[in-house]
Parts: sequence; structure tokens; C-alpha cells
Amino acid sequence: MRHNNKNIVAILLLSLFAFSANAQQKTTKDKVLASVAGMQEQRQTIDSLLLIEATQDEEYEDIPSDSLYGEWDNETLNPYKVKITEIKDSFLVDCSEYVHPIDNIVTSEFGQRWGRFHAGIDMRIKVGDSVRCAFSGKVRIARTGSRRRGYGYYVVIRHENGLETLYGHLSKILVKPDQEVKAGEAIALGGNTGRSTGPHLHFETRYLGNPINPRNFIDFDNYVIKYDNYTITKAESFKEFKEFVNSPTRYYRVRQGDNLGYIARKHHTTVSRLCKLNRLKATSVIKAGKKLRVS
Ligand SMILES: [Zn+2]
Repeated sequence: MRHNNKNIVAILLLSLFAFSANAQQKTTKDKVLASVAGMQEQRQTIDSLLLIEATQDEEYEDIPSDSLYGEWDNETLNPYKVKITEIKDSFLVDCSEYVHPIDNIVTSEFGQRWGRFHAGIDMRIKVGDSVRCAFSGKVRIARTGSRRRGYGYYVVIRHENGLETLYGHLSKILVKPDQEVKAGEAIALGGNTGRSTGPHLHFETRYLGNPINPRNFIDFDNYVIKYDNYTITKAESFKEFKEFVNSPTRYYRVRQGDNLGYIARKHHTTVSRLCKLNRLKATSVIKAGKKLRVS
């Protein structure tokens, strides 16, 4: 009995030792595992930080307009000459930062008008009212050349989201070519320069040089954007412009101060085409009131 007891005690002691050794071993193993896990976690954190950084870099570099437009031209409204048929089927435009250029009523719509194409929307404005930039971007054209013709004083801005906007008939321009601007920034003052019969803002939205009806994505009654993301589609977004360009025969009555170059540009055709259609020479003098075939 005593012998047995001794044995039991020995067995108990042994198993206790074994247990504690095992426990110790387990703790060390756990510690190592925990530390490895910790390192892995740290590494993962570093990896994710690097990934965030890389993504941010990518986002910073990935400005849609940079890959869309090859040319940067401070003179010509549409130097790209991209036909609608050459545009890819759809393009998503981030419109979330939109600011309405002037909170006032629409006085003339986008589309065909007196045989020519009105590529923008006119809004009532008082001379001297601030004109705000619709989206952030960079000033491409700031023209103060002509007080009597066409757009008069006008500004064209290329936006990071891929659109370009034009602001016409201004009285004063507050920005310079190549200047970076933010959405909502005052870029000019409203006016009555160019071919204009009263103070108004002529506002255009273009994609790769082709005008899009701003009503497609802007709510002109409430002065806000309709969608944070607007998808430009080759099939739908240029409907009015395509109809105009493809319409069979159009005439235009010459106005005081017109020349063939100006008329050709306004009708999206060429001087040589106008000459052919009207049996004219490029040097011909065209009198005001004459009816010209323009397509
Ligand atoms: Zn207009």
C-alpha cells in the first residue's frame, strides 16, 4: 500500500512536470506563432499602406482628360477633329463637383437655329455678374480678341473628367491660358460681346470637340447637376448635332460682316465645299442678305 502510494506520488509528480513542461513549450510556441502573426500583420499593414499609396498615385495620374486628349491648343476651339463615329461607344463622366455657371433662366436652347447650329445653351446674365467654372480643370483658351464677332470674349476650360466647357459673350476674363481652376471659381464676368443681342452667357459642353446638349445632364431649372456620373454614349449624346450634320440641304442668309471662312466654320463645313455648293471663288465678296447653300 505504501509502495503503491509512493508510485502514485511519483506518477503524479512526473505527469505534473510533463504537463508544466508541455505548458511551457506551448507558451513558447504560442509566443513564436504570435510574434510571426504579428510580423505578418505588420507586413500586411505595410503592404496595404504601399497599396493605398500606389493606388493614390495611380488615381492622381489617371486624370481621364489626359488620356483622351492628345493636343493642348490655346487658340482653336476644336483642334481634335474627332468625328462622332470615331468616339468609343460610351464614356463615364464624373460630374459630382458640378457648379452652375450662373443661376439664371435659359433664354435659348441647344440645337438648330436659323439654319445654323447653336452648340450651347444661353442663360440670362447681367453685365458684370460672375461666371463660375462648372468643374475643376485648366484654362485652354481665354480670348479677348473679337468684341463683335462670334463668341466675343470667351473662355474654354478642359476638365479632368474629360469634358470641355465654353463660356461666351463675356465682358471681362479673370483667368489666363494654362491656369488651373476649381469648380465654382469665378473665371469671368458676364457681358454682351460678340454676336449677341443682349447680355447673356453662352455655355457649351463638349467632348473631344463635339458639342453635347448640356440639358442631357444639367438641371437648368434648379441650377444643379442631374447625375453624379453621366455616361456619354455615341448613340444618344450627340443626337441633335448628328441630325444637323447629316441633314441634306441647308441654307443660310449672309449677315453683315460675314466671310466664307466664318460661315464655313459655323456650319461645320469647309470654304471649298461652300464654293462648290454656291459656285463661288474663295475670294468672292458675299453680300449681306444673300442666301447661301451651306450643305
Ligand atoms: Zn448662344
